[in-house]
Amino acid sequence: MKSSKHFKVLFLVIAIIVSTSYFFQESKYLFQVLFFIFGIYLLILYVGVTRYRLNYFSKAIHSGKEKGLSLTFDDGPNPNFTNKVLDILKKHQVKATFFIIGKNIDGNEVILKRIIDEGHIVGNHSFSHVKFFNVISPKKIVEDIEKCDNSIEKVTNLKPLFFRTPFGLTSPKIAKALKKVDHVSVGWDFRSFDTMAKSETKLLYKLKSKASKSSILLLHDNNEITINVLDAFLNFCKKNGIKIVSLDKMIGLKPYKE
Ligand SMILES: [Zn+2]
Repeated sequence: MKSSKHFKVLFLVIAIIVSTSYFFQESKYLFQVLFFIFGIYLLILYVGVTRYRLNYFSKAIHSGKEKGLSLTFDDGPNPNFTNKVLDILKKHQVKATFFIIGKNIDGNEVILKRIIDEGHIVGNHSFSHVKFFNVISPKKIVEDIEKCDNSIEKVTNLKPLFFRTPFGLTSPKIAKALKKVDHVSVGWDFRSFDTMAKSETKLLYKLKSKASKSSILLLHDNNEITINVLDAFLNFCKKNGIKIVSLDKMIGLKPYKE
């Protein structure tokens, strides 16, 4: 198997530290230089953990092959908003992908069924969606992902293939866990930061300005501002010839396991 960028960097840092220690062993600044190299390494690690798109620890798909835009909604099913999203998608006759949090299914089974019945795709977004998902043990990550799979399958009879890591965080632990579960990790090339949007006008402006240059858009179906601009955004896409393409077609993979 091809080694990850993380292992290549680790190997390089060790090589630099060993050679620096050898060549500068007499220098009074040796400790400071080593400390500086280690600091750079920590910085690279931080960027690798927080930048899903860099594929630093493990590989994920962040863009598509088709011309157009795939809509993805994270963090549902949500009893207040997911149905509204589905109504708007139905009105525009477009299909989206919902990355489901397993613990949100309980009590919202009808919404999850509706997502499938109306031709949308469901993906795994972990069961717990805990803040530090990337630092819990690989065994616990595997259990959490499988628990979400089981909860989705119980309601829909489908085994999702697509997985999206909570908060877009990665780590060697998630990389190790993903080797054990049979999933394709899917990110995005357009993160709207819709949950942090200060106003509908600002979010809509952002969506409009980047839509034609992107292929996979990250939105949230638990966020009121997102729902309030969705209809206007889809009108904009239609007017400007931006085709909404379902994620499976966009990345050329079937969304469910046999
Ligand atoms: Zn999420």
